[in-house]
Amino acid sequence: MERVYNFSAGPAVLPEEVLKEAAAEMLNYNGSGMSVMEMSHRSKTYQAIIDEAEKDLRDLLNIPANYKVLFAQGGASLQFASVPMNLMRNGVADYIITGQWAKKAYQEAQKYGKVNKIASSEDKIFSYIPDCSDLPITDNADYVYICENNTIYGTKFKTLPNTKGKPLVADVSSCFLSEPADITKYGVMYGGVQKNVGPSGVQILIIREDLIGEKPALACTPTMMNWKIQTDEKSLYNTPPTYGIYICGKVFKWLKKLGGLSAMKEINEKKAAILYNYLDSSKLFRGTVEKKDRSLMNIPFVIGNEPLEEKFIKEATKEGLTSLKGHRTVGGMRASLYNAMPIEGVNKLVAFMKDFESKNSL
Ligand SMILES: *Cc1c(COP(=O)(O)O)cnc(C)c1O
Repeated sequence: MERVYNFSAGPAVLPEEVLKEAAAEMLNYNGSGMSVMEMSHRSKTYQAIIDEAEKDLRDLLNIPANYKVLFAQGGASLQFASVPMNLMRNGVADYIITGQWAKKAYQEAQKYGKVNKIASSEDKIFSYIPDCSDLPITDNADYVYICENNTIYGTKFKTLPNTKGKPLVADVSSCFLSEPADITKYGVMYGGVQKNVGPSGVQILIIREDLIGEKPALACTPTMMNWKIQTDEKSLYNTPPTYGIYICGKVFKWLKKLGGLSAMKEINEKKAAILYNYLDSSKLFRGTVEKKDRSLMNIPFVIGNEPLEEKFIKEATKEGLTSLKGHRTVGGMRASLYNAMPIEGVNKLVAFMKDFESKNSL
């Protein structure tokens, strides 16, 4: 069967080159006579894989030496608890709510301390990013929390909030490695890799060393969520998601070969512009968020007529344009244009939308 253009929000498309390489190495990785899946995580061969993955990630993001890199498990959702457990030394944190994922993190953190909602865009179904240049940051807040790219609603922080000196914690699950980032502006950057970097089951955390301290803020923090232990053990306290980390490593190499994150950003801007420009000119389809806050990764759009939207999704699927159904809270459609979505996929989608528009008017 032909491969489709997969617009899924996650797990999502991966570079074909990476999948082919992994397939070629499936039975015998680098002369080891076994698959990476079958290999001890304590072996020299695996140590080289995880070391190289970390090194390549550090190169790509220019991660300063005073930041630790952690490959963890439990979904980005587990970090909703790990973040407060490790960081809430004063028992206080400020959250900016720009979508479902930020809201879930905010709700989870309430179990561990006093959590303030200092800004929100829920009044307009999360269709914009609030002005975060002068927020009422709490004096003794341990951190300020954001979800940098809102996977469901399709908005992104174009400028990071002014945290007035407090550490910024950002869930970057759906924009990770889509463009360069200045790590020094973050206390913790973390994300699940199944949106833009690899297979589900791996989270990557980049944590400023001084925030880890000698022990987590909460004494009851489970060992598996204890950043001090996990970083001291270099992601090998227990068996890590070995195969997933190996695939992430291949994606890092793919990104480096492409020219790094500046080159990736240029490609992503080009791809997103193709779809946004069409949405702005279409009489049938329209985007759902404020233009200034548009995400390059997740692009929701609607017709505003449910039967016609269903027809669109059905016919698109037949054309090999799959997973275009929007999140149930927004309705309509969503095209996720992650790093690995080829520009041909976006062109084909827009050509199909134009054709659909010419045949179906409201
Ligand atoms: C998908 C997603 C999550 C949840 O990830 P899990 O790995 O399923 O827990 C959290 N945050 C954002 C921004 C996401 O896109």
